Parts: sequence; structure tokens; C-alpha cells
Amino acid sequence: MVSRVLEEIKKTIMQRLPSRVHVAKVEFEGPELVIYTKNPEIISENGDLIRELAKDLRKRIIIRSDRSVLMEPEKAIEKIHEIVPKEAEITNISFDDITCEVIIEAKKPGLVIGKYGSTSREIVKNIGWAPKILRTPPISSEIIQRIRRTLRRNSKERKKILHQLGNRIHQETKYENDWARLTAMGGFREVGRSCLYLQTPNSRILLDCGVNVAGTDEKTLYPFLNVPEFAPDNLDAVIITHAHLDHSGFVPYLYHYGYDGPVYCTTPTRDLMTLLQLDHIDIAYREEQPLPFNVKHVKKCIKHTITLDYGEVTDIAPDIRLTLHNAGHILGSAMAHLHIGDGQHNMVYTGDFKYEQSRLLEPAVTRFPRLETLVMESTYGGKEDVQPSRNHAEKELIKTIYTTLRRGGKILIPVFAVGRAQELMVVLEEYIRTGIIHEVPVYIDGMIWEATAIHTARPEYLSKDLRDQIFHMGHNPFISDIFHKVNGVDERMDIIEGEPSIILSTSGMLTGGNSLEYFKWLCENEKNSLVFVGYQAEGSLGRRLQKGWKEIPLKEEGKTRVYKVKMDIKTIEGFSGHSDRRQLMEYVKRVSPRPEKIIVCHGDNYKTLDLASSIYRNYKIETKTPLNLETVLIQENG
Ligand SMILES: [Zn+2]
Repeated sequence: MVSRVLEEIKKTIMQRLPSRVHVAKVEFEGPELVIYTKNPEIISENGDLIRELAKDLRKRIIIRSDRSVLMEPEKAIEKIHEIVPKEAEITNISFDDITCEVIIEAKKPGLVIGKYGSTSREIVKNIGWAPKILRTPPISSEIIQRIRRTLRRNSKERKKILHQLGNRIHQETKYENDWARLTAMGGFREVGRSCLYLQTPNSRILLDCGVNVAGTDEKTLYPFLNVPEFAPDNLDAVIITHAHLDHSGFVPYLYHYGYDGPVYCTTPTRDLMTLLQLDHIDIAYREEQPLPFNVKHVKKCIKHTITLDYGEVTDIAPDIRLTLHNAGHILGSAMAHLHIGDGQHNMVYTGDFKYEQSRLLEPAVTRFPRLETLVMESTYGGKEDVQPSRNHAEKELIKTIYTTLRRGGKILIPVFAVGRAQELMVVLEEYIRTGIIHEVPVYIDGMIWEATAIHTARPEYLSKDLRDQIFHMGHNPFISDIFHKVNGVDERMDIIEGEPSIILSTSGMLTGGNSLEYFKWLCENEKNSLVFVGYQAEGSLGRRLQKGWKEIPLKEEGKTRVYKVKMDIKTIEGFSGHSDRRQLMEYVKRVSPRPEKIIVCHGDNYKTLDLASSIYRNYKIETKTPLNLETVLIQENG
């Protein structure tokens, strides 16, 4: 059946391309259509034609050269350096024999692409190899290097995976799409282990697959993948909305237990998710509570991941089209829009989202082509969950820093590595650069540095304001020299004994990690300040300090030592990556078109129920608040 579809497509392509073009082969690679040709230069000169063809065929089209026209690599490298301006700062060139692509890594990838793609067209015209252009981040990222290496080394296997997937996606549908249902597999009336299972007569999709980081046993840690209707080996696709472990942490397990299909997410989500998954495995191993999967499965996940940009419409099953849209929560976070059948049903799953402009990101998208079912989070869905504005939060932060520095103290800010840390870096950089707080070193400890490096590799996902700064004003706040990476214990001691400074360190709730070490050194001096900018869970040290505990017993090398807390403890609200109650309600009001049904997830029991009933009362939209393991019929039979 696939070959028939492909034959039809090939016929259309031949008719539309100029007759001089020699098409060697047309095939599916995952959701994309690949045309191999002996005259890539002619096709590349007809960019509009390809764009129109893609639109009419409703496929993403990639042009590759037939092997017979490839220039010898050594000569090709010389030629590339001739064509590309020096200012592009190429850092690496490698060749992929399998896909006939040349991978060019450069500090300014825009200059390798050229205006409207002119430079990259020039490259293919001259050397035959189709250029794949990647950004060399200004802060080097180990994770991105590792991912690129894995993909390069496994190019042959990857091509096979994509080829098989392409055939699966482009089958004709077997049944009429007359129903669709959604099962709550985790993260309903709770926060953690988010997982939704969508079934239609033709396909099965998993949306998010997280762990509950605060879980204590098997019953609360992982999603309910043991329901009888779920089997990893007949799943069509997994969609990950963002990198936080409560949304992505259990994906490697799927690969351990027979899943062999794709993961769809944005590029930053892939990078950050890999960082967090590897760290999770590492910590669990050190704490002697190993996870039911390992590094091998993370690698398998990388090989199966297909990255999508916001707004890119993609076939992921014979009857389902996926489009990701900005969710404003962390870098690369997305809302997933699913177009089912011939538009019989359209649903949006928000994942975690922020409906407010932040320093780092634009607010969540509210416009969709069609929408019947909205599945939304309710982390701050309770009536009382109204947070101060960003502006107010920033002022509070600056005030605290100012007064602490004036009395000669240090400021410790425990933060989660991804999201809040970078938001704060942008704020601090601006206030120091403009002289509102005087220049002090800002120390970046632990995984925050690597997460920041990933931010510098994907500037196109940042807010418009930051993109303008980076691309047009040549000013990248993340690489400012006020920031210092902390390497090891010795440097930490120097910081403790040194001049006033600001320290950003993980973990965000002082449950372990270097932030706890800094706390021990700093807490008994009344000049210092501890600032919480994120949620502190019940039972964490952070929460106890917020409650005003003045004596903290901590275990050290088998003995317990009591720390007297003399440092100033401050909590600043308003930096959250989640929408507060007002923003959630405003989002429902603004989302367009107006959904017929809203399913509320990702919140404590009371908050989920409170938000759902308020939505119904205010907007008269039907709401549902399923428990884990419940199924909701989103598109009714008939
Ligand atoms: Zn999140």
C-alpha cells in the first residue's frame, strides 16, 4: 500500500519538476519525503517550486544528491571554505555517506545558509553534498556534542529506523475515524509522572512519559504503563512536550521494554531531556537506588528522536498530524496540537505552560486552526494561587541582593538547573550591566552551566527581545563575563571565603547537591541571604527554612550536626514557569477557537477540581477531571 502512495507521489514530482532534473529515487524517511537527484543544483534553484510541491503533497520534502555527483571530501572542504565567508567561523565539517550530506558546524550558521539560502545552494551546486548546517554554541555543550556524535556514528541505523517509520506512517488508514479516547496514565489530580494515552481506531499515541521525582515507591514513581490496553510494541508515536523529568523521565524505559518507534519533540527538548535523564540515572546510581533503565536506553531514545520546529505540521500516524506550538514554560517547551482523521477531532495538550511574557520566552500560543478538546495543566489552579507579576518579582530580588551586598554578605539562590536559573541569569546580567546593582561575580554551579550552554545553542527558541539582543545587537547575556563556572570543591571554598557574590546552585529545594553544601557554609553568618525563587515541596529542607526553622540537624559522615540558621531567608514569588490562577483562566478565555471540552490535569486534587469548576461556572465549557486510569471519550462514536 505504501508503494502505491509513493508511486503516486513520484508521478506528481516528475510532472512538476523541470524535465532536465534526473530523479534517481523517492522515498520516505520518517515523516519526510526524500528526493534523490543527479542534479541537485537545478532543484535548489527552484526553491519556490519545492515549497509549492511540499504544500500540495502535504509533506516535508528534503532534496539529496545521488551518490554519483558527490565531490571528493577533501576537495569539497576546500570549496566550502571558498564559498562561505570567514565570519561564519566554521568549526567542523564532516560527511555522512549514508545520507549524502555534509555537516557544517559554525558559530554563525546564518552566514553558511546565506540570504534566502543562497550560500547553501551555492555549496550543493558546487560539491553535490547537501549541507546540513548546525550551530556551534558560544558555550560548548557536552550534551550536544554527545548527541551529534551518537547521530553521526549511527547514521546507517538511523536511516533504517526512519525508512521503516516512513512506511508505517504513510500506510492507508484501515478503519473509519469515528471515535477517539484519552486515558489518564499519570499526572492526573497530582503533579508528577505525566502521561496520556490517545487511541483512535487506527493508532495509539503516548503524550509525555514522566516520573514522579518526589515519589517514594513503585506505586507512585511511574505512570500506569501496566494497563492491559497498553503495549510499548504497538505504539505509533511518543510526543514529549518538554524536558522536565516529570514529563520525559520515563521515556528510556519504553525503549527497554520493546518500544522501537519515534519520539517527537523540539530540538531543545531533546537536548535538555537527555541532560536530565542522564543526570537522573547518575544520581539514582550514586544513591544505590538504580532505575529500571540505563544509559543504553537514553542513547536508543536519541537515535529514535525526530525533532520538530514550532508550527511544523507533521504526519505521525496514518490518521494523525502533529504540530508543536510554544508553551512559554522552559526552552523548547511545547503544546501539542493533534489533528485526527480528516479533521474529525482536534485536541491540544498544553503540557506545562506560562501565559505571560518572561525574560526568556514568549507567552504560550493561544491560536490553533481547530480545537475541540483542550487538555490543560492546573499546577497553580487553586483560587489562592495568584502570584505577583514578573516585574514585581524582579524588584524584590534586586532589593534583597542590594541590601545583602551592602552589608558585605553573599546571596545563595538554590535553583532547578533548567528554566529558572537562566531566567535569573538574564535578569542579573541586565541589572549589573546597567549599574543598578554594582558588579559582583555570579557563580554558576552544577548542571546549570550545561543547561545554559544548551540555551546558547538554540537562540531561535528564546524570546523576541533576547533574540534581538543576540542576533542584531551582538549582545548575548549568557556569555557575559560576570558569570563564572564553578569547578570542584577547591573553587567552592574560595567562593565561601571570598568577597561578596551571588551563587546559583542546584538542587532547587536544598534536598542535596551543591546548594546544600553552600547552605552549610553560609547559614551561620547573619550577613548572608538565602533566596527561594521556586516551589519548595513539603518535607524538603527548603520548606522547613521557609517555615522559619532556626536549627537544622544535618547528617555528615554518619554524625548529626545542628546548624544554626542566622542568614536571612527570603521567598520571592512570581518567577514561576507555570501560569498562575489568573493566567490559567485568562488562557481559557483567550484560546481560539473555543474548545467544546476541557480536561484538567497536572495539579493537586483540590486545585484541579477548583480550576475545572471555575472554568465551567465562568465560561460554560464542559470540564472533566479524570483520575489516573480513567478514560475519557473525546470524540464520540457516530
Ligand atoms: Zn515542567
